Parts: sequence; C-alpha cells; structure tokens
Amino acid sequence: MADYLISGGTGYVPEDGLTAQQLFANADGLTYNDFLILPGFIDFIADEVDLTSALTRKITLKTPLISSPMDTVTEADMAIAMALMGGIGFIHHNCTPEFQANEVRKVKKFEQGFITDPVVLSPSHTVGDVLEAKIRHGFSGIPITATGTMGSKLVGIVTSRDIDFLAEKDHTTLLSEVMTPRIELVVAPAGVTLKEANEILQRSKKGKLPIVNDHDELVAIIARTDLKKNRDYPLASKDSHKQLLCGAAVGTREDDKYRLDLLTQAGADVIVLDSSQGNSVYQIAMVHYIKQKYPHLQVIGGNVVTAAQAKNLIDAGVDGLRVGMGCGSICITQEVMACGRPQGTAVYKVAEYARRFGVPVIADGGIQTVGHVVKALALGASTVMMGSLLAATTEAPGEYFFSDGVRLKKYRGMGSLDAMEKSSSSQKRYFSEGDKVKIAQGVSGSIQDKGSIQKFVPYLIAGIQHGCQDIGAQSLSVLRSMMYSGELKFEKRTMSAQIEGGVHGLHSYEKRLY
Ligand code: GDP
Ligand code: GDP
Ligand code: 5GP
Repeated sequence: MADYLISGGTGYVPEDGLTAQQLFANADGLTYNDFLILPGFIDFIADEVDLTSALTRKITLKTPLISSPMDTVTEADMAIAMALMGGIGFIHHNCTPEFQANEVRKVKKFEQGFITDPVVLSPSHTVGDVLEAKIRHGFSGIPITATGTMGSKLVGIVTSRDIDFLAEKDHTTLLSEVMTPRIELVVAPAGVTLKEANEILQRSKKGKLPIVNDHDELVAIIARTDLKKNRDYPLASKDSHKQLLCGAAVGTREDDKYRLDLLTQAGADVIVLDSSQGNSVYQIAMVHYIKQKYPHLQVIGGNVVTAAQAKNLIDAGVDGLRVGMGCGSICITQEVMACGRPQGTAVYKVAEYARRFGVPVIADGGIQTVGHVVKALALGASTVMMGSLLAATTEAPGEYFFSDGVRLKKYRGMGSLDAMEKSSSSQKRYFSEGDKVKIAQGVSGSIQDKGSIQKFVPYLIAGIQHGCQDIGAQSLSVLRSMMYSGELKFEKRTMSAQIEGGVHGLHSYEKRLY
C-alpha cells in the first residue's frame, strides 16, 4: 500500500481503512450497521456544512430528506412541513386519485400563515359544536359561513370569548345568537399579503382575520398566534412561482394515467413510480408515456438495487432512481420473495452506476438513525427517503391512540394486508390484481409519538452536518467526491464492534436525542 504525506505534517502515515470500492469489492452484502466511516480533518464549523443535493436531474433540495409515499407517513401536512424545511414529501396513492390530487393541491396552495382549510360552522350549529371542536382540535376561533363550509358566504365569527362564560344549559344555543355578525367583522380581501394581514390584525386587535373573495365567500383565515410565532424557513423547497414543491406516487397500470392527469393538474412537481421491483416492461412503458405527455414532469423510477435494473430505467429516461428492496422497517420482502439486497451495497452499486448518467439516487428505507443518513449519503445517495423515522410524528396521517399508557400512531407497510385491504392501489404495487392468494410483503404496527417534525427534522439536519464535519466534508458534493476519489475511508464492523458502538454496560439509561 502506498504511504502518503499529511499536508503540513512531519512525516508519513501508513494508508489506513478501505475505499468504498474496496469495501464493496467482495460479494458480501453490507448494511449501514456493517461499516463505519473513518474521521477526517476539521477546518470549518458544522453549521457551515452545505446539504444541498439533487433529488432529480432538474430538482435540487437544500435538505436531502424525503418522506415516503406511505399512507401512515405522507399526506399534505407532512409534505408541507418537509418542504418548508428544505426536503420534500411524496403523497401516497393508497387512496382515490381525487383525494391524492387534493392533498397535492393543499401543498401547492400552502401559504405560510394562511389556514386555507379551517374548521368552519354554520349559524345553525350550536355552542356545543364549538366546544366539541375545541376538544378535538384545540382551538375555538371558528368562522361561520352560510352553509358551514369553506367557499360559502361569511356570516360571522365565534371565538372563545363569545362562549367562555356560557353555562351547561346554553350548549344548545345557536351560533347565530352568540357570533359576532359579518357587519362588525374586520376582513381582508383574497390576495392580501401576510405583511398587510399582519398590519390589519395589529390594528383590529382581534385574534382571527377572515379572508374573503369578491363575493364575500370565505377563502382562508389567519390566526394572530401564528403571526406572532411566524417562523422563517430559509431552506424551503419552492418552485419558480414560490409554491412549495410536492411529489406524488403512482403505479404503472392503465388507470394510473388518469391519476397522473389529476396529479399534474394539481401541480405535482415530481412523480415517483411506486414499485417494489421497478425493472419491468410496465414501468419502462410508463416512463415513456409520462415523458411524452408531460415532458417537463420529473419522473423517479424504482425501486432498484442493481446496476442492471438501473440501466433499463435510465435508458427509458428517468430523472432519478429510488433504491432499496426489502430493507424497510416494516418489510418482509426478503423473507417472502427471496429477493432484495442489503441497503449499503444497493445504494453504493446503483449510485456508482447512475452518476455516470447524471441520475441522482434516493436511498429508500432502512434508515434508523441520523448516522444511517450520513452513511447513505457517503455511499453516493443524493437524498434519503424515510418511513419509520417520520411515522408517528404530529404531521403523519392518522390519530394517536394509547396502548399500555404509551401514546402511539399506526405505521404500516404498503404491502401489508392491512394496507392492501384499504384500497386497490397498494395491492397493485405488491402483486397482480388477479392473484388469488395475496402474499403480504409488509407488516402493520405502531410507533411511539415523536412530536412534531418541526423539531425532529432540524435535529436530523444538524446531525448530518456534524457527521460531515467529523468526516471533513464541507458539503454533500465534497462528501461524494471524497468517496469516489478514494479519500474517504471506511472500515467494516464485526458484530462485537457493533455492540461496542452502541450503549453498553449500563444498568439503565435514558436515550434522549435532542
Ligand atoms: P383559538 O383562539 O382557540 O382559535 O386558538 P389560537 O388562534 O390561539 O390558535 C389556533 C392555532 O391552531 C393556530 O396556530 C392555528 O394556525 C391552528 N389551526 C389549525 N387549523 C385551524 C383551524 O381550522 N382553525 C383555527 N382557528 N386554528 C387552526
Ligand atoms: P379570542 O380572544 O380568542 O376570544 O378572539 P378574538 O380576539 O378574535 O375575538 C374577541 C371578540 O371579538 C369575540 O367576541 C369575537 O367574536 C369578536 N370579533 C372577532 N373578530 C372581530 C372583528 O373583526 N370585528 C369585531 N367587531 N369583532 C370581532
Ligand atoms: P423505513 O424507513 O420504514 O425503514 O422504510 C420505508 C420504505 O419501505 C418505503 O419508502 C418503501 O420503499 C418501503 N416499503 C413500504 N411499505 C412496504 C412494504 O409493505 N413492503 C416492503 N417490502 N417495503 C415497503
């Protein structure tokens, strides 16, 4: 082995560790836990690490984090929060095309500070209904429209002050009797900027500002509390019209073409073809179809785990690749189908091939810690897709429930029987509709409440930055070029090394991450 001189140093140090090429040279399949990255030289602060990375040929993100198109992970709330923090969410398709397109529309129409689908009641609802809304949602500032729905004429507003002192017997009182009527309300016209709205609220000294169109129909409300905590999202992923970026998943069946039409009308920026084994005539045909009908729409193909699979999809014209088969936390594909690949090897092999064609790779599944994210990026992935890590957060779909005193949310594989029984689209991902016997490729379970991703994603971002700092890479592009040049060094971990690398030898401990 060649010795080399450390710059500015006093002597030679022997070559140490393995290059990525050496790490994957023999046929052992490696997972993220099977190796470590050797630390490098630090001459910058962690905050300065630039995490900008490509999602597809044409879309670049400031945060390399993606939420998976699963029905317990990504609907509009998750996609909005992910995009605000510089990543992106892919809306799942285990639902009707109309529902999915509407979730995309909510993301594309999202304007910070504006609540575009507030809880609305009608004058014939009762005080009891407001109290119930307060228990369910936690707020009681409710605009009243003629029909009790958005888009109908604004007739008044009810807030906590209007109902706080009412007695039990008054719960049947109609809202028409307690609301502040339209004539007394300060409203703002549709199109008002957040800054103008802020000034109006300051002057009116009220808690809510209803926004109405030319026909006096309610289109949004603004809450004073939100203006006060108005957060800045300097990393936000936005299109040229300053709307948040949004992805969506589709299958490769004939009826997915209708779904695709609705999703593009709703403004989806990028489509992922959702298949556990993407190297198929169906997916190739779908890529051709989309590229011909919507040339500007970015298309991500997958999933793949070998260069040969990737080749066919790259030849077909995909703008990105999703890598992973059987590594997901809820996944039993490898057990049942005998196919798959350990994720470290899959990411390295596919990324190393795809980069020659300028096609970025998403490392999808198997991410359990922020260290796994750093490893995926160090193996050549441009971005990382997560399911379990983002499940059970406030923004994930589904209600919390308690089991043995623990607050949980459901998390399930899209190939679990549970998910497939809900709708036909996830059946299609995991087997043909005509199959007589359904073979599950995933399980259904639950995960403990993680709070909001507004706190969790910043932790992930800071964690990646610290990892890159230890490595001595000031950006993700530097990280990748260090890896491909052989400067970045890895080392395999034996089982006992893995035990050493975890917490050990304590009687008890609490693992608080941030
Ligand atoms: P209220 O005075 O009881 O309505 O509550 P606040 O205005 O203090 O806080 C309401 C919080 O809930 C704000 O952060 C809102 O953005 C949020 N929120 C989310 N959806 C809705 C909704 O449909 N209506 C209202 N009023 N607030 C909502
Ligand atoms: P609260 O502090 O959460 O109860 O909410 P607000 O400050 O928004 O409302 C206080 C009172 O003013 C309630 O009786 C509301 O119905 C009423 N109110 C809310 N918006 C307006 C408005 O624009 N004009 C007038 N005149 N009253 C309003
Ligand atoms: P996680 O982040 O939970 O480890 O993995 C999430 C990924 O697992 C998803 O992005 C998707 O690629 C994959 N996945 C989701 N549901 C299933 C399933 O039922 N079976 C299999 N094999 N993979 C799944």
